[in-house]
Amino acid sequence: MRILVVEDEDRIASFLKKGLSASGYAVVRAATGAEALEATEDGGLDLAILDLGLPDEDGLSILERWRTGGLEMPVIILTARDGIDDRVQGLNLGADDYLPKPFAFDELLARVRARLRPRNGGPTTVLQVGRIRLDLLTRRATVDDRSIDLTTREFALLECLLRHPGRVMSRDQLLDQAWPFGVAVTLNAVDAYVHYLREKLGPAADRIETVRGVGYRMRAP
Ligand code: CA
Repeated sequence: MRILVVEDEDRIASFLKKGLSASGYAVVRAATGAEALEATEDGGLDLAILDLGLPDEDGLSILERWRTGGLEMPVIILTARDGIDDRVQGLNLGADDYLPKPFAFDELLARVRARLRPRNGGPTTVLQVGRIRLDLLTRRATVDDRSIDLTTREFALLECLLRHPGRVMSRDQLLDQAWPFGVAVTLNAVDAYVHYLREKLGPAADRIETVRGVGYRMRAP
């Protein structure tokens, strides 16, 4: 499987290359939009990881050109921009997934693997474990069919847990993934927000298990 990494920052590109190669993927790197377009001309790529802030052309316009040109490989956007507008625009333009920087490599790898599984329809925009369901596009959270009103942070936290059912997520990991980079928060904030989440989820919250001294786990069905 060949993965195109479109990333202008050398440090991030080599980090990605190292991790993906170790996981058995061949990696092609493009440092600019022009290189990205050139790399896809001959085909033979199975997936692209696309940074949006490129020196010559915005990643979203690269994506648009790929899609209007009929290129169907899965595209995962990886970017420091985490505005909802960018996310929605990226998905509307045909991205399959969206991961804000900073990111945990494990999470990226999980998403790459998910996208490389045989496709059955459109992109994953819904996460569901048991009765809890998150629609990532409409930002709607539901338990059974009841809507739950979540804050941005609660939503992000629940999204992290739902993306890794059965896996223990340390408070550090949750902090890294659910809070914006550079915001000064303590690990206690994670506990506080899990508490808020549980209150809002009601009985369905019994899926969120506390792993003492470590963090939390979304119990797999
Ligand atoms: Ca960049």
